[in-house]
Amino acid sequence: MEQPVEPADFSERPQDAGLRFARRMYGLRALGLVLGAVCVGGALWSQGAHAPAWAALLANALVWPHIAYPLAHRSANPYRAELRNLMVDSASGGAWMAVIGFSPAPSAVIFAMMAMDKVSVGGLRFLARCLAAQAVAAAVVAMALGFELHPLSSTVERVATLPLLAVYPIAIGLTTYRLARRVRAQNQTLAALSSIDGLSRLLNRSHWESVVASEFQRCRRIGHPSSVMMIDIDHFKAINDRHGHPVGDEVIRNVAELVRGALRLHDVAGRYGGEEFGVVLPGTGAEGAELIAERIRARIESTVLEPHNAVRATLSIGVAAFDTLDAGHMEWIARADRALYAAKESGRNRTARYAAAGG
Ligand code: GH3
Ligand code: MG
Ligand code: MG
Repeated sequence: MEQPVEPADFSERPQDAGLRFARRMYGLRALGLVLGAVCVGGALWSQGAHAPAWAALLANALVWPHIAYPLAHRSANPYRAELRNLMVDSASGGAWMAVIGFSPAPSAVIFAMMAMDKVSVGGLRFLARCLAAQAVAAAVVAMALGFELHPLSSTVERVATLPLLAVYPIAIGLTTYRLARRVRAQNQTLAALSSIDGLSRLLNRSHWESVVASEFQRCRRIGHPSSVMMIDIDHFKAINDRHGHPVGDEVIRNVAELVRGALRLHDVAGRYGGEEFGVVLPGTGAEGAELIAERIRARIESTVLEPHNAVRATLSIGVAAFDTLDAGHMEWIARADRALYAAKESGRNRTARYAAAGG
């Protein structure tokens, strides 16, 4: 289900992005280290570790997140500071693997979970740096402890990995999902600021209407014939219902491209609504506009608009020539829209020209 997204705020300072990043990592780190402590704790327990190891584990899980966050928060560059914190996380993970003698089950789970969050934050390059830090820390600690290996994980060790394994990926996934939503909100705001409709790459409605408005004024001034065309995809709702919204989007994109390809340089097309397009044809009277409309209609009719599902569609088109009786450009558009309605009423997949009542 599509959920509403709050509009993005573009007034923030670059610093804010770093602070938000640090805040996001704070929650993930606090959760991940508690789950990680259960995982490592299982191994310490099973291997009969001494008090200092337990103390270090508790400090790592319960104290470090609350140091790491202020470190980033107070830094002049919170983003960079948080990346350093993440590398420290990786290094400490490596150290813990060495402490538990690289017991395979907990070591593999810690490795995988840490690699997942690092790669989601900074891609493969950042992952490589973190893995290097992890390897160095593991080697140093292993050397200090005399390379005692535990090549078989006990049942306790394996069970203790489960909370981390079960919960942490959900937390990472949720974080990624929220980020993706944020990006989408920003894209929507950008699209609104731009004059181009993001899906069809045609002018958006308000900008297209302003083109019609200036053409309307020009027709009044110099008295040449011009036309407006309104185009609507027939039974589009059925395409969405049958194949899903993304396929519907692809159909809209392809119809827009075909419409644009059928026009001359000075004709201007816009996306008027969901699956409705408007075209203004400067210097073209009703007959010429009807010919162009028929060309577009026939081209769409004979085209597969979405090859994977073999989706085809037809268009209904309404045409209205400029009329000095129109009070304004919106009336002109409304007459083309009425012609479109007439085309729908008389069976769809056809072009209709606006005819004044009785004419
Ligand atoms: P008609 O032949 O009378 O035009 O029937 P229709 O089904 O095309 O008309 P209707 O206006 O009932 O349906 C239009 C549909 O277009 C409903 C809406 O969910 C869908 N729609 C609007 N915008 C978008 C979009 O951006 N993408 C997709 N995939 N669907 C859209
Ligand atoms: Mg329609
Ligand atoms: Mg419609």
